[in-house]
Amino acid sequence: MTYKLFVNGEFTESSTRETYDVRNPANGTKVDSVSKGSVEDTRAAIDYAYEALNREKKSPSNIPRILQVTSELVRQSETELATIMTLEQGKTLLESRGEIKFFAHTLEYYAGMKVRGSQVRISDSSKIAMVEKDPVGVVAGIVPWNNPILLMGAKVSASLAAGNSIVVKPASTTPLSTLKVAELFSKAGLPKGLLNYVTGPGETVGEELVTNPKTRKVSFTGETATGKRIMELASRQLKRVTLELGGSNPIIVSDDADLDAAIGAALNGRFRNCGQGCMCVKRAYVFEQIASKFVEKLKEKAQAIVVGDGMKPETTMGPLHSKNQLQKVSSQVSETLERGGELITGGHRPDDPDLSNGFFYLPTLVTNVDENSRLVSEECFGPALPIITVASMDEAIEQANDSIYGLGASVWTKDLGRAKKAAQELEAGTVLINSLYGAGGWEIEVPMGGFKQSGIGREYGIEGLESYTETKTVIMG
Ligand code: NDP
Repeated sequence: MTYKLFVNGEFTESSTRETYDVRNPANGTKVDSVSKGSVEDTRAAIDYAYEALNREKKSPSNIPRILQVTSELVRQSETELATIMTLEQGKTLLESRGEIKFFAHTLEYYAGMKVRGSQVRISDSSKIAMVEKDPVGVVAGIVPWNNPILLMGAKVSASLAAGNSIVVKPASTTPLSTLKVAELFSKAGLPKGLLNYVTGPGETVGEELVTNPKTRKVSFTGETATGKRIMELASRQLKRVTLELGGSNPIIVSDDADLDAAIGAALNGRFRNCGQGCMCVKRAYVFEQIASKFVEKLKEKAQAIVVGDGMKPETTMGPLHSKNQLQKVSSQVSETLERGGELITGGHRPDDPDLSNGFFYLPTLVTNVDENSRLVSEECFGPALPIITVASMDEAIEQANDSIYGLGASVWTKDLGRAKKAAQELEAGTVLINSLYGAGGWEIEVPMGGFKQSGIGREYGIEGLESYTETKTVIMG
């Protein structure tokens, strides 16, 4: 079958009739084919979204109820959606199931949330002042391939709950699970045009979404360089942007930490989704007193990870998503070793011939790392962890903050004073203290986003909902 675009409530072929194949990163086989949307298709979707929004303003539908019903349908379809996601993305089936559950929870959360307006007492008591939160308008959602459903889910749920319509562009390599979800929204009764999915290249479909005058806001998740390009394009119309970009998230493990738990956090934080998460742990700063023990124990656990096809139940880490990813991670590791880094484990593809057609890479640990090496200075979107030894919390925080990124950070200590200092001084949108997530997890109820070049704005929580609104002051009298 060929998956089609979802525009104005219907699955439609692209105007050019072009299609392309989506391939399984674990073995290179074709998963399915999908219509390749064009600029013309994108314009049509935006026009439909615009009309749907105007209809909605005149006669609003029960969006909370529709989100709630969609959530139930998503839960019922967990196995099917998770299977498609594992085949197109590569992550383990267990990880895909977790992502689908999170999406269902996101829908439920925003189904129960109302945009808050307020009345304000002003000095002139003859007047009544109100602060309204209007829908921003047609939203453009641009989504990457690492968490295709979870990231799409936050953008769609919050923008619909705030009263908008939305056109989403999934990543070119992971459109299938997203298009499957479209069926569920339709089944739940979402009016046509409020949600549209246009697959196709970032340079055409993506840039049309950003520059079309009818889209009022762009919500983007992906690489920092792409985020900069989007912000530049959006600035020409002063379009609202939320940018959730890269991170090089540190984990700090102090000498008084619960070592086994901290190692569990580093392991989960670095190797989940084969290291391909904006919130993954990307650098470890370990107090010198415990460094050798930390490395020894983490090595043992990293070597016990079962690398393989995400569809196999025994697999605990799938492949990297693409050849590009594999080349990028390999070159980041090689460069770090050339600068004097010591390879503790991994550093290459697995020897197993059954894995030779996939983009597999072994869990990798490097010590004696030069602070200017690429594993430290860049975002490493793969299963490789540089481990750096530090003498104090001050030194750890200083090095952790020495980055263009500021998305997540994690601290392991039993000392309340140290924890407080780290929470106050770390430059990151999320700071975790003694948390098994690693460097950041997703809790839909609290805002998530980055300091510095990790982004602008916040998703999730009430802040995420309000980011899809415009504030309007009304004064009567
Ligand atoms: P991109 O930022 O290029 O892709 C993310 C999304 O943006 C995709 O839907 C992509 O479309 C789209 N896009 C690409 N170019 C444009 C554009 N000019 N205008 C509008 N939309 C555009 O990330 P990549 O997939 O190329 O990954 C590269 C690196 O980015 C990774 O190695 C990783 O380091 C980082 N990354 C970080 C993520 C994070 O959450 N922090 C998520 C994903 C990647 P298309 O798929 O068609 O190219």
